[in-house]
Amino acid sequence: MSNQLISTEPATGAEIWSGETGDAAAEVAAARAAWPQWAAHSVSFRIETMNRFANVVRARDKDFADLIARETGKPLWEARTEVAAVIAKVEISANAHGERTPMRRLEAALGNKVAVRHKPHGVLGVLGPYNFPAHLPGGHIVPALIAGNAVVFKPSEKTPATGAMLVDCFHEAGVPEGVIRLLIGGPDEGRALAGEDGIDGLLFTGSARAGMALHRQFADMPHKILALELGGNNPLVVWDASDLPAAAAIIVQSAFLSAGQRCTAARRLIVEDGKHKRLLTEVLKLIDRIIVDHPHADPQPFMGPVIDDAAADHLQEQYLELMFKGGKPIRRLERPNAGRPFLTPAVIDMTDASERPDEELFGPVLQLVRVKDFDAAIAEANATRFGLVASLLSKDPALYDRFWANVRAGVINWNRPTNGAPSNAPFGGVGMSGNHRPSAYYAADYCAYPVTSVEAEVARGGITEGLRDAYVAVDDRV
Ligand code: NAD
Repeated sequence: MSNQLISTEPATGAEIWSGETGDAAAEVAAARAAWPQWAAHSVSFRIETMNRFANVVRARDKDFADLIARETGKPLWEARTEVAAVIAKVEISANAHGERTPMRRLEAALGNKVAVRHKPHGVLGVLGPYNFPAHLPGGHIVPALIAGNAVVFKPSEKTPATGAMLVDCFHEAGVPEGVIRLLIGGPDEGRALAGEDGIDGLLFTGSARAGMALHRQFADMPHKILALELGGNNPLVVWDASDLPAAAAIIVQSAFLSAGQRCTAARRLIVEDGKHKRLLTEVLKLIDRIIVDHPHADPQPFMGPVIDDAAADHLQEQYLELMFKGGKPIRRLERPNAGRPFLTPAVIDMTDASERPDEELFGPVLQLVRVKDFDAAIAEANATRFGLVASLLSKDPALYDRFWANVRAGVINWNRPTNGAPSNAPFGGVGMSGNHRPSAYYAADYCAYPVTSVEAEVARGGITEGLRDAYVAVDDRV
């Protein structure tokens, strides 16, 4: 039975979109019917179609950015960078396809030829998160389409309008209706899509909780590809930094960009106990200047609201929980307008807390941890079941060498923020941050499977061992 899904602006509560929840089985059937013809096209035809998609997005970039800003609450300037990332993804994905899954010929014994080619899986499901509702699904969909798959895409139930616009852009660019299907709905529709016999795999970006549920759902389906891009509890270590205002800017950017709603956001700031005070003063000076406002406000805010009231309520509860465990507020998590999900950037000192929960607080909360020496800083950085991003701010290259060698994460940065990962490099984490199927530049790897063929134009056969003498007709033996 279908239900109505309504999308509202977090900043105002105004309704911006409504639509019926979809039927996973029907969408998968449509995609299955369409994919063989798509797969039969040449790669260059599919890349050309993706270039047209980039042009469609370019032509609609203002409306697209406006919609993303309104539906997610992120500032307009930031929504524009998301649209630019969607466009840039096409060329990057085309290059990645050529580089990661090229056709190769190898020499083999007896003059035989070996060819390595790649085939699409068939129909892939894509489940998107709300925080980058166009860029991150696009990061799965574009490589999947280039490789020759059909896709059923379910955007987050919190950002269906952006998902619908993304799919509309693919169709406008000439991707057949059946080759990219929109499935509207929430976790129920996500589970239904994941359980459809007619999908050959699922590409997921979202929380570790949902990722684990999907991993369980796929337990007896080893033949299907499952790519999980999950969250993090990311450490940012500052040790012997020379330029404190620059370090403060990197810390604030790492922790509070997108109101902390990035998988790459710094959650834990690890500093040298006793020598951290001047740094903290700089960070607080900057935090106190941060504008939190509507996405279209003038002057533009640094942060908009978080995605909805439920997320704001949950973050406030998590923040209180940190205080109950002994965390000492340095800047409190305030909610200036009780009826809307705007939150102010918070910093809490967790050094003397009875426990530091290893959870991803998906919002503007930075936990400070003071440690005695650099070994303790590395141990603290690794004190997480996740392993997405870690960053070190330090003027000492030897410290970075130690940090790089000993920290477990899929992205390790030096004197750069934890966020802002380059799209033309692989992106993924270890631990609970994923299942070793890194995305971005390596998305091509899970969108196609390799086929090795030993090939000769003429059949040459001969068995030299283990046979009796040549066959002799019975009549000839008498
Ligand atoms: P979410 O897990 O709540 O939802 C993601 C998508 O999965 C949505 O479409 C949702 O409807 C669907 N879903 C939820 N539960 C499901 C289930 N049990 N079965 C099937 N589908 C289900 O995530 P979110 O709140 O939208 O996004 C924020 C999370 O995403 C954060 O944890 C963040 O760290 C993570 N994230 C990771 C990356 C990355 O590349 N590693 C990037 C962005 C966001």
